[in-house]
Amino acid sequence: MIINTYLTFFINNIVIIRYTVNKHNSKSKGIRIKEKWQNILETNKEIVWKNIFSNIYSSTNERKLRRFQYKFIHRILPFNRYFLTWNLSQTSLCDFCEYRKETVDNLFWDCHITQTLWNNLDVFLKPNALRLTLNLKTISLGIAENIPNRNILIFLIVLMKTFMLKTKI
Ligand SMILES: [Zn+2]
Repeated sequence: MIINTYLTFFINNIVIIRYTVNKHNSKSKGIRIKEKWQNILETNKEIVWKNIFSNIYSSTNERKLRRFQYKFIHRILPFNRYFLTWNLSQTSLCDFCEYRKETVDNLFWDCHITQTLWNNLDVFLKPNALRLTLNLKTISLGIAENIPNRNILIFLIVLMKTFMLKTKI
């Protein structure tokens, strides 16, 4: 467990260093990330990126959560696919279901075990008058629109995702 945590920390930092080294490319990388999300979410509707990034700061003061969401949006979180490449894992499959390939989208949304967790959050939200349609877009990028309790909802989503990543480790 401790070794796993250490390795995750180490690999996290390698990814960050690689990202920093490539920062002269950051403009084109930023555009690529935006296009990637546009494709993943299968939408032609323009994503309001200014709001997506300000959400990170308005929803929580917790640095770990902010950092997590920033990495999530930039798709630089480490997964079994990378661990396998570096011989740090025996598999590229999802740690939860051990069935599908582990990717950002599978681990945090598509996986049936993850879906159970999101359903539990949905059950929690309704009696507390917190209205939100959970889908890949809202759980990935937060909520761009101005809806009641927006910051609390984004905070809960990010907290849930960090819990998922911790549980995986
Ligand atoms: Zn899975």
